[in-house]
Amino acid sequence: MPNTVEVTPDGAHDAPGGDSGVRVRAVSKSFGGATVLDGVDLRVEGGQLLALLGPSGCGKTTLLRILAGLEVPDEGTVVIDGRTLTGPGTYVPPERRRISLVFQDWALFPHLSVADNVAYGLGRGGDRAGRVTAALELVGLGSLGDRMPSTLSGGQQQRVALARAIAPEPTILLLDEPFSNLDTSLRTQVRSEVHELLVTLGITTVIVTHDQDEAFVLGDQVAVMAEGRVVQQDTPAGLYANPASPWVATFVGDANLVDGEVRTTGSDAEAHTALGVIPLRGVPAVPDGAPGGAAAQILVRPEECRVTPGGTARVELIEYYGHDTVYVVDLADGTRIRIREGSAPAVHRGDAVSVGFVGGPTIAYG
Ligand code: ATP
Repeated sequence: MPNTVEVTPDGAHDAPGGDSGVRVRAVSKSFGGATVLDGVDLRVEGGQLLALLGPSGCGKTTLLRILAGLEVPDEGTVVIDGRTLTGPGTYVPPERRRISLVFQDWALFPHLSVADNVAYGLGRGGDRAGRVTAALELVGLGSLGDRMPSTLSGGQQQRVALARAIAPEPTILLLDEPFSNLDTSLRTQVRSEVHELLVTLGITTVIVTHDQDEAFVLGDQVAVMAEGRVVQQDTPAGLYANPASPWVATFVGDANLVDGEVRTTGSDAEAHTALGVIPLRGVPAVPDGAPGGAAAQILVRPEECRVTPGGTARVELIEYYGHDTVYVVDLADGTRIRIREGSAPAVHRGDAVSVGFVGGPTIAYG
């Protein structure tokens, strides 16, 4: 039964008893005949952090702009904390949404002090100075209000931008590729700092990124987008263990997709592969009954394999990362496998080796 709605003075609809967080339903958007969003559904629970992960051009920024009210979808609804902000006959403009949007460069005004930057988005009334001080203290920069942005480190500047975003007490925070302008070493450090702040603040947050590590580290939930759709939304661990398609499997982390033949016995299934017999989780949705079993691709993560010296496979490449080593190995039948072990290289390039599967039950794609 549809929820009853009330029209509020600013035109938004309040659904009585509406839950907190973000609900996006069936949102579509085209530009000049080209479909950019195609029936997007998304859910962010109140106080949680959702990472919107997808390749360049899949529509992430457009979706973020629709949440902020900077873009109007052709179809679909956006409900935040029980208020319908966008929907048939409803459109609440950005300034009435209580949403803060932070862009890639976190740009501060160079001619304004840190405190004036933070005050910029606040209205004239109320305890303006008090809110600026509180926001700066929250991000650990309480003593730097009088400084100019150019005298701060890159990480401090981002914290000022975060203080500016949270000073108006938004109900949701939208961050568009927030760390993409930082070099690798600073990026990890700033990301950790911002992550800690976001977790402490407990504001519902959507972060757009095309970086899987970033999405996994930051997101309570990750929504994977491809070609204008959310193809899967889950916790990082849920996504990694149960990718909905081979594409998602390779997009969220390193994956081997090994050819195999699925054989089922009652409620058990296993795949016969060049890595040996691999147990499957449940009976996969692959057509069965073919002689010798149904052909499928078996998901094998690199850390689920081990290399041992001697055998019919050959080490083609070794990538040493310090904390672990990746071996690229060609099996006797030509199958190429990536293997990740948490130790220094134990064999050499060109060595003859064996590869064993040491993981638990996995999944198969028909
Ligand atoms: P990236 O990671 O590269 O920023 P994205 O996933 O955020 O990509 P969007 O910026 O949402 O993708 O763009 C999706 C598609 O929509 C692109 O092909 C883009 O050119 C197109 N697009 C976005 N905004 C407009 C606009 N205002 N007019 C026309 N086309 C647009």
